Parts: sequence; structure tokens; C-alpha cells
Amino acid sequence: MLNVTVVGTGYVGLGTAIMLAQLGHQVTGLDVDARKIDQLNLGHLPIYEPGLDVMLAENAERLTWTSDYTSAIPHADVIFICVGTPSLPDGRPNLGYVESAARHIAANLNGKVQVIVNKSTVPIGTGDWVTRIIEDATDPQHHNRYFVVSNPEFLREGTAVSDSLYPDRIVLGGDSVALQRMRDLYAPLIHQNFTAPGHSPRPAEYTVPAVVETTLTSAEMIKYAANAFLALKISYANEIAGLCERVGANIDEVVSGVGFDGRIGHRFLAAGAGWGGSCFGKDTSALITTGQEYGYDMPILQAAIDINSRQRDIVLEKLRKHLRLLKGKRVAVLGMAFKPNTDDLRDAPAHDFIQRLTQLGATVIAHDPVAMPRARHEWAYLSYQEAPSAHAAVRQADAVIISTEWSEYRALDWDALALSMRTPIIIDARNVISDPLTVHATIEQIGKELPKPL
Ligand code: NAD
Repeated sequence: MLNVTVVGTGYVGLGTAIMLAQLGHQVTGLDVDARKIDQLNLGHLPIYEPGLDVMLAENAERLTWTSDYTSAIPHADVIFICVGTPSLPDGRPNLGYVESAARHIAANLNGKVQVIVNKSTVPIGTGDWVTRIIEDATDPQHHNRYFVVSNPEFLREGTAVSDSLYPDRIVLGGDSVALQRMRDLYAPLIHQNFTAPGHSPRPAEYTVPAVVETTLTSAEMIKYAANAFLALKISYANEIAGLCERVGANIDEVVSGVGFDGRIGHRFLAAGAGWGGSCFGKDTSALITTGQEYGYDMPILQAAIDINSRQRDIVLEKLRKHLRLLKGKRVAVLGMAFKPNTDDLRDAPAHDFIQRLTQLGATVIAHDPVAMPRARHEWAYLSYQEAPSAHAAVRQADAVIISTEWSEYRALDWDALALSMRTPIIIDARNVISDPLTVHATIEQIGKELPKPL
């Protein structure tokens, strides 16, 4: 059992802290946001993440929550940095939160061997930069006692519990003393000999994660290269989808045929409104700016970003094609979170839809199964009305945009919903309606030329 402190209790920090407690470690979660810490001390999770609330309750005796660096750092064998690294306007990540965390950690180190782990997604070279910050702030006699490791995170919001307990791989970058401690920390995960929670049992086909040990720099690069590839894959599917519409092919059939090639696979080939969230846009931009700093163009990544932003335009063009004037029209937006099973609103396509529709004079009625309370704070500057249900949002609407593929939207009786609309125009920007030809409405999907309605 090790003492661990996790700095930053957002989506990644909470997933990490609670997973490590499940492995048997004693964990302190630290955040400068006192509201989050108060909630956690009351036993409430400040984010929506399926199953994580149950795991929080089950491991409560191994978890402590605080905003106080002086009590959280000195006793820790391993200190994780999980603070945000949002994009600056020029595409580079804002490292201000990492720097602040590193300085506060440095001020409270104890002179014994402590390992500081960068789990935040940080530009290549940040591990060395954090080492410098710590060396500058600590007693030179103790310099060989603090080690900085890169251990990038690959969990997905919405499936964070199983992603963190049953990962494909654990990437560890750093030097050997530090990596030995990381192997000790993750031993129950590496050998899969921890008690799995009842609500998230080990999948039958799962064995153990690959452990990939690298230099600091390679570990930092692995995270960016992986995210950029996934973003690229989605943009590729969207580019093919656009051509499908023009030549009369159907993207679902095309992806099905392509994905059975074991070298390609079916995942991350869904055509639609494109990616959103806190990672893909930020990480592709960061990689491009790193390339620029080193005089190296990355045109594939730039194309992936451009295609992704074009998808949002395409959705609105499809709407305008049918409604023509938007002023005075009532448009329902179904789904606000950037993807299903999360309340994360960062870079969600729905944000752009709401903003651009209201700028054009439309009234927007929005619904999301879980993200509406968060939107009340984070999107307070947008003018839209909330609907208590998808049915209520759609009633009397001139059109609806399905912007997030929540399973409850897939299960709706779209024919009945269309009847409740003023004009039954459905822009299915996530291709969730499985049988569009049976619905008496004008339906637009992505990557398919649907026949005219009856
Ligand atoms: P987040 O914004 O949800 O959480 C960051 C937390 O850090 C916030 O609670 C904030 O209050 C806290 N914080 C900021 N400065 C602090 C400081 N100096 N001391 C203590 N706490 C501080 O962010 P996130 O989504 O958890 O992402 C964290 C990092 O992980 C980012 O670099 C991101 O790119 C990376 N990542 C995210 C995901 C994901 O799915 N969200 C997946 C993999 C990697």
C-alpha cells in the first residue's frame, strides 16, 4: 500500500484517485476548487460518470479530500498532477495550472524519495520543465530524491471506471528508480489481482494490460500521437461520408465493409457532427504547434481539424436547406454534452449549434439527459430554453437537430415525435435513427442520401 496524492479532481483526477483507492492505496485528492472538495467531503461526485459514485462510496475510508498542499504533499510516496491543460487562443496548451501545481508540490516535498507523475496531457518536454521547477524550488542536496514520471491517461469519459480498472496499456516514461515505484503502485492493476467492484466486473475477454516503459519524451508523445490518430480516424470517416452523399453511397454500409478489415476496425469511424470534448481539438492543435516550434508541418492533422469544423457547418447547412429563414423559427437541440454518458460540455457541437442558431434569430429549445444542470452555469451566456424531456423539446418545433447520440434518443418513437412538430424536419447529426425511411418526416443524416419522404 502506498500513500498517493492526486492534484486536480476533475474527470481524470477523480477517476485516478478512486481507482487507486480500489487497488488498496491510501489516496488524498487535492483541488483548488473548494466547492468540489466540499462536495466530495459530503460523499458527492462533482461530475457525472457512470459507476464512479458507487466506487467513491465503497472506498470512502481510503480517500481524503482537501485543498491544502501542506497536508497533502509531505506524506505522499507518489504525487499525480491531473490539472487541466486547456488550449490558449494560439492552439498551445495553457500550462499555468501545471506550473502552479508543480510549484506548490515543490514547496511541500519532504526530502525523501517522492515520485511526481504528470498525468495531465502536456506538451513534449514538460516533464523536464517540471523537474526544473522542482529543482529550482528545493534544497540542492535533495535533488536526486525527486523523480518526474510521465504516465498519460487514456480513460474515456462515460466509461472511466472500466477504462481505468481494465486498461489496454499503462505507459510509464521516466528513469528506472521512479518506474520501479510506479510498477509497485500499479502492481494490482498490472497483475489484475485486486478485488473488482461488483458493478464493474472484469470483462471475460480481458487479461492484463500491456506495460509500456519509455523515456519521458516518448511517453508524452504517445498520448498526443494516440489522440491525434483517433481524431484523424473520425475526420476520415466524415470526409468519406461527404462523398457518399454525393455519389449515392451509404456511409453505414461503407464503414461496415471497411471496418471488418482487421487492420482498420470499426471503432472511431462514426460519421456525424464530428468530435468534441476537452481532448481531441486541444491535443491535435498542441501537436501542430509543437511541430511549428520545431519547423515541421503536420498537414494531416490540420486537415483533420478543418474537416471536423466543416461537419458542424454541414449540419447547419442541412437545416437551412429546409427552413431557409431561421429568424422566428423554433429549433430543438437534442443532446448538449459532447458525447453520451457524460455531462462534459467542453467543445460540444451543441454549443456551436445553439450559438449560431440564436444569432440567426431562431428560438432554441435544448435537452440533455444529464448535462443541463452543468450547462446552466457553463453556458449561462447562451440564450436557449431548457426542456424537461426530449418530447417537450420537440413539440411544436420547426426542426430538430440530434447533436448527441444518447441511447434514449435512439429509442424514441420518431414517427410519433414528428407528428408533434410544427414541421417535421429532423437533422440527425449522429445517425441515431436506425430506420429513417419508416418515419414520416424530412430526415437528413450524415453520409446518406435519403429518399424524399412519403
Ligand atoms: P478538469 O478541468 O475536469 O479538471 C482539472 C482540475 O484541476 C479542476 O478541478 C481544477 O480545479 C483543478 N486544478 C487546477 N489548477 C490546480 C492546482 N494548481 N492545484 C490543484 N488543482 C487544480 O480536467 P480533466 O478533464 O480531468 O483533464 C485533466 C488533464 O487530463 C488534462 O491535461 C487533459 O487533457 C487530460 N486528459 C483528460 C481526459 C478526459 O477524458 N477528460 C482523458 C485523458 C487525459
